[in-house]
Amino acid sequence: MNSLLQISDLEVCYGDAQALFGAAVSVAEGEFVTLLGRNGMGKTTTVRAATGIMGSRKGRVEFAGQDVSRWPSYKIARLGIGLVPEQRQVFPNLTVYENLVATAHNRLNRKDPWTLARVYKLFPRLQERAGNLGANLSGGEQQMLAIGRALMTNPRLLILDEATEGLAPLVRGEIWDCLQSLKNTGLAVLVIDKNIGPLLRIADSHFILEKGRTVWSGSSASLLAAKDVMKETLGV
Ligand code: ATP
Repeated sequence: MNSLLQISDLEVCYGDAQALFGAAVSVAEGEFVTLLGRNGMGKTTTVRAATGIMGSRKGRVEFAGQDVSRWPSYKIARLGIGLVPEQRQVFPNLTVYENLVATAHNRLNRKDPWTLARVYKLFPRLQERAGNLGANLSGGEQQMLAIGRALMTNPRLLILDEATEGLAPLVRGEIWDCLQSLKNTGLAVLVIDKNIGPLLRIADSHFILEKGRTVWSGSSASLLAAKDVMKETLGV
């Protein structure tokens, strides 16, 4: 499989405090990958640095065959990364419809681009709520909207930071089903989440961060077999 995203030797500081000491993650075309680790180990920082949101970083980030290590976030996004950030960050004063069309584009000239109709088919709830303000949605609806908004940019890679955090079990199930169906379309996905069960079922491979370093990577089958790794690094 061709590599789509390749993060290597990533180092990031918040002021004097170093948060990443050599994070490494790779995602191939069409692959479903997770970034795992306990709280504060550097998962969000890795995603923010790789997508250019955190300006000051060391190391190398390649996306779609280009070295984007020094690129600003808007340029990296245009190259085809759709980010569903922590806390969703939907536009509270825009309607669902407006949120979806606000950032929509098909710069990569996809043959089968994401449209409103396609997003509404994936999440019928969003169509029912089309005229509602972002602020008035439930947590699950906001997450669906954040995913839909990212898809409307026609990404080659969808990144979700805390895919199901704070959602009711039933809604979590809907999000996992959606991610499975996106994987089935061939979209590459990188997910941060604490629910290891569904991730082991859906994901192809996993990267585990500990204190800002990637300490383990491998397939779902090898992670399932590595009970000691799961206990030591994830506490499960
Ligand atoms: P969580 O699962 O809790 O979201 P995480 O694995 O995503 O954790 P990060 O949020 O990336 O971890 O945090 C990595 C380290 O960087 C932690 O020690 C954290 O305290 C620190 N950190 C994160 N954001 C900031 C910030 N804005 N300023 C200073 N330190 C920060």
